[in-house]
Amino acid sequence: MAQKDYYKILELPRTASEQDIKSAYRRLARKYHPDVNQDNPQATDHFKEVSEAYEVLGDTEKRQKYDQFGSEWERYDKAGFSANPSRGNGSGNFTYDYTSPNGGFGDIFDSIFGTTGNRTRQRPGGAASGGPGPSVHTRANDFGFGRGAAPRPQRGDDIEQPLEVTLEEAYQGSTRQLQVQSTELCSYCNGTGMRTGQRCTLCGGRGVVPRPKRLEVRIPAGVDDGTKVKVPGEGGPGLSGGPRGDLLLRVQVLPHPAFVRKGPDLHTTATISLYTAVLGGEIIVASPKGSKFALNVPAETQNGKIFRLTNQGMPVLNAPNSRGDMYVKIEVTLPSNLSDTERQLFQQLKDLR
Ligand SMILES: [Zn+2]
Repeated sequence: MAQKDYYKILELPRTASEQDIKSAYRRLARKYHPDVNQDNPQATDHFKEVSEAYEVLGDTEKRQKYDQFGSEWERYDKAGFSANPSRGNGSGNFTYDYTSPNGGFGDIFDSIFGTTGNRTRQRPGGAASGGPGPSVHTRANDFGFGRGAAPRPQRGDDIEQPLEVTLEEAYQGSTRQLQVQSTELCSYCNGTGMRTGQRCTLCGGRGVVPRPKRLEVRIPAGVDDGTKVKVPGEGGPGLSGGPRGDLLLRVQVLPHPAFVRKGPDLHTTATISLYTAVLGGEIIVASPKGSKFALNVPAETQNGKIFRLTNQGMPVLNAPNSRGDMYVKIEVTLPSNLSDTERQLFQQLKDLR
C-alpha cells in the first residue's frame, strides 16, 4: 500500500495546529464536495482523500500514531501498539465523539452545509422533510446488517422530477436532452451512510451521492399537466445488486400565447375585419405546429361567434387516432381613421337601416 501523506493532502506543514487542520479540512471539503462538483468526477476522489486525512489528523490520538508510524499506523495499532485505547471500543477502532465541541464530523459537516435538518437521513415511515426536487432517501437499515443473512437484492426507488414542456411539444411530441439528478450508492461507505463508526463524510450520512446524467428523453404527443413520462432504469440505485428504479418526469405544459387547452380541445381567437364579418370570406388559422388551414367565414358572422374545427385539437395520449377539436372564436375589428368619404358611406348605411 502506498504511503499517503495526509499533511500534504490537507496542504499543511507537520507542525499544523488542531485549528489549522480543522480549517484546512473545512476549506477543502467545501471545495471538493461532490454536491458542488457535479461535472468533475475527480473532485470526489479528492474529497475522499481529504476526508480520510482529516479522519486521522483531526483526531489527536490517531494523529500521534500516524506521525509515528505513517499511514500504516492502523496495522501497528491493531498489532498491540495502541498504548491508550481509552476512547476506543475495545477492538482497536475508535468511536467518534459527535458531541465534542472541539470537533466531530457531525459539527464540521453541518457547519459546511448549513442546518442539520435538510441533511439528515429520512427514516422509512418517518416524517420526511420533503420539499421540491428529486426525493432522495437511503435505506441503510435494509442492508441486513446484524441479521447474519445475505441481503436480498432490492430495486431502487423511483425518482420524480418536474418537466416543463411547451404546448407545441405536447401537440406533436418531441425529443429532449435532459440533465437529470439521480443518485448512486456512495462508494465511500457502500451506501450505509456510516464509515468506521462515524457518519460518512462523502455523502453526509445519506448513503447516496448525486449522479448527474444527460439523457435523451422522448416526450410522446398528447402529454398534459400531471402526465408522468417514465424513463426506465434511471431512478435511484438498487441495493445489494438490485436494479435501479425508474425516473418519472412529471409534465407541466407551459401556457401558450395563442391557444388555451381544455382537455383534448384547443381554444383560440381569430381576428377578422368588419367587411369579412359582414360579407363573408376565407381566413387562415394556424395550428400549434405551425401548419395553416383555411376557415370559411360565412356572411353576417357576429362578433364572438365560435367555430368548431373537428379533429384539429390535441392528440390524445396513447390513442394515436384520436384528437380533440379546435374552437375558433371570432373577434371583429372595426375600421379606424375613417376618411370623409368612408364616414359618409357609413352614414348612408345607417340611414338605410
Ligand atoms: Zn457515504
